[in-house]
Amino acid sequence: MDKIKELEKIKQDILDDMKCPLKDSAKNLVFGKGNPDASILFIGEAPGAKEDELGIPFVGAAGKELDKLLNSIGLTLDDVYIANILKYRPPENRDPNIEEITRHTPYLIRQIKVIKPAIICTLGNYSTKFVLASFDVSKMNSIAGITKLHGKANDLLIDGMNFKVIPLYHPAAMLYNPNLRSVLAEDFLTMGEILGLKVNKSIPSKPASKQDTMNKYIN
Ligand code: URA
Repeated sequence: MDKIKELEKIKQDILDDMKCPLKDSAKNLVFGKGNPDASILFIGEAPGAKEDELGIPFVGAAGKELDKLLNSIGLTLDDVYIANILKYRPPENRDPNIEEITRHTPYLIRQIKVIKPAIICTLGNYSTKFVLASFDVSKMNSIAGITKLHGKANDLLIDGMNFKVIPLYHPAAMLYNPNLRSVLAEDFLTMGEILGLKVNKSIPSKPASKQDTMNKYIN
């Protein structure tokens, strides 16, 4: 079976999972987007309102920031695949709970096994902890927060698969904390260097419009 068909099968299995947490409150399944043959996989946290509306990850404000960061190191959606820990939006964008993570991540693991990325970039605390805990939800608490881990590559062997894992702040975090904009820009440059891309060190950093009122994406 080719990758697109395999991913379609996973998507259908989620749609058929009538007891999947958050299914009833969400408008749409938000499965993934990008190139299934990409060697770079980005993993976010959970769909927001816009993603829920359209059934596509990272199409809202955080998605626009992610697009700009990718472009800053010469990458486009053609070069990456993007998915989330949760496949359905939590009401009011609240944090995912353990049951939701436990029930949704087997689908993410299946996506990972199909895509077979060499590099996994985790966006924010939840995806960082899940991946660095070797996909074991019960061990997520033992992993440090994104403040400590961001921008540093980790070589992991999980279920016989080798990954380079690069934790990054969630792009939504810089919408709330303008200081993180330059940190994220710098981490993308570091990531570009790790990937062997030609990166331009002079990145324009635009100030965010809101002050830091929410630390949801930051440990
Ligand atoms: N934030 C995420 O983590 N994922 C999305 O798809 C959108 C915003």
